[in-house]
Amino acid sequence: MIQGTLDRGQGRADLSVPAGCPLCAGALDLRVTPTSAFSYCGHCHWISRSVVSVGPNSLEVAHPPGGMA
Ligand SMILES: [Zn+2]
Repeated sequence: MIQGTLDRGQGRADLSVPAGCPLCAGALDLRVTPTSAFSYCGHCHWISRSVVSVGPNSLEVAHPPGGMA
């Protein structure tokens, strides 16, 4: 289950995805803004620029190769 907050005024969302880290399967924190998305794993400290697609009932997070910021 994904938990998070959405600031519609600023178009920004902070999300936490359990087991979302592709490296260690730790909880992944996501910050999504209108222009970018970043993910951070507090367990292994992996940071990535991410591509987030939000659907009516779904959230997809992709980590493109070479996307390190
Ligand atoms: Zn991790």
